[in-house]
Amino acid sequence: MAEKHFKYVILGGGVAGGYAAREFATQGLKPGELAIISKEAVAPYERPALSKGYLFPESAARLPGFHVCVGSGGERLLPEWYKEKGIELILSTEIVKADLSSKSLRSAAGEAFKYDILIIATGSTVLKLSDFGVKDDAKNIFYLREINDADKLVEGIKAKKNGKAVVIGGGYIGLELSAALRINSMDVTMVFPEPWCMPRLFTADIAKFYEGYYANKGVKIIKGTVAVGFGSHANGEVKEVHLKDGRVLDADLVVVGVGAKPLTTLFKGQVAEEKGAIKTDGFFKTSAPDVYAVGDASTFPLKMYGELRRVEHVDHARKSAEQVVKAIKVSEEGKSIEEYDYLPYFYSRSFDLSWQFYGDNVGDAVIFGDSDPASPQHKFGSYWVNNGKIVGAFLESGTPEENKVIAKVAKVQPLVESLEKLSKEGLGFASKV
Ligand SMILES: Cc1cc2nc3c(=O)[nH]c(=O)nc-3n(C[C@H](O)[C@H](O)[C@H](O)COP(=O)(O)OP(=O)(O)OC[C@H]3O[C@@H](n4cnc5c(N)ncnc54)[C@H](O)[C@@H]3O)c2cc1C
Repeated sequence: MAEKHFKYVILGGGVAGGYAAREFATQGLKPGELAIISKEAVAPYERPALSKGYLFPESAARLPGFHVCVGSGGERLLPEWYKEKGIELILSTEIVKADLSSKSLRSAAGEAFKYDILIIATGSTVLKLSDFGVKDDAKNIFYLREINDADKLVEGIKAKKNGKAVVIGGGYIGLELSAALRINSMDVTMVFPEPWCMPRLFTADIAKFYEGYYANKGVKIIKGTVAVGFGSHANGEVKEVHLKDGRVLDADLVVVGVGAKPLTTLFKGQVAEEKGAIKTDGFFKTSAPDVYAVGDASTFPLKMYGELRRVEHVDHARKSAEQVVKAIKVSEEGKSIEEYDYLPYFYSRSFDLSWQFYGDNVGDAVIFGDSDPASPQHKFGSYWVNNGKIVGAFLESGTPEENKVIAKVAKVQPLVESLEKLSKEGLGFASKV
């Protein structure tokens, strides 16, 4: 098979791949210079939609509605856009071998690709229960990462209308999926081992609100235990979930959200890694010549905190993609740009809730506002104070202006005199910064 050569290849047509393509077009690109190679069958899209609008029982989000870059208020890049710009979108193509020394890639179907510059944007893959030794091959056990997973889940939900769903995991996917299944009138039980949901970000106080809110919506929550197996019907469909504490839950459908890991296996031994992803500098350059890594697949210097971090959130995928293309383009002119100076930003939406978080969740957490799950306004937040300074801020049900205010406070890191006073002042403190 003839080998195809491109000046730039982006491996992975997800969020970072799409935003990088837009930045290349902005910076100037000749037709035929850039290719995006992606395992998925569709042009880059805003992945967060899969666990939210995509699962709505009515007026569900569908492509082409959420192709990048609509998630950040930008232009929607339809497949025709790539054609117009002379960008080759090579879809349904999984790369199974990468040889960085000869700058070549090979697909599962045997196609060969050569590049001058490679941007690795392979994202993450879900952790499976089978990775922990739990057999998960019964029908109607779902994972969610890509659009074809979401399509299977939608079919599963339709087939088990008003049935019983068990959601395994209490993180982002667990919380968003429990809400989506409940909105689809399923009887939902969440199971997770930790003492409260989203323990990597939420404090016990924050989690108390969400758990109470979910309970009021009819979601049952079982904490402190894990799934150790499944029972199935004669037709292979899941029937029950076996928990470590001995309980058995009836289930017509199971969704598992127990984490994800960066997809770096293709490059093992060829490029330096750190904290489970590919190590880069502040321009997303890796240890291999002419190879860059962005989004979930990168571990980069988080300048504000003076350490290397991995961030598996959409905002970083977008911004790292823009940074890498700018860095590549200026380096071709022998110039350079400022290194990446990222303020971590995460968000989630479920039911009629919507939160945003900026900064770092270390130090003392100070809750403020109305965090009663039964309250109609449920506007509350939390600051994190470390070494006398606010380093992180979280807000539920903030307006766009209020969200800007908490982003600023996390960036500016003002000094705090009294935690008690801060709690009383709440958002008022941040708006004065
Ligand atoms: C369901 C869901 C909901 C989410 N919701 C939120 C949210 O609300 N807020 C938030 O901040 N973040 C959210 N995230 C996380 C966010 O979507 C990711 O951080 C972001 O998509 C990372 O972008 P990426 O480009 O690095 O990887 P991805 O968007 O995952 O794209 C990687 C692409 O590379 C392709 N690929 C991988 N390996 C190969 C290969 N060998 N050959 C060819 N192609 C390959 C994949 O098929 C995929 O298309 C969510 C994630 C998921 C799965």
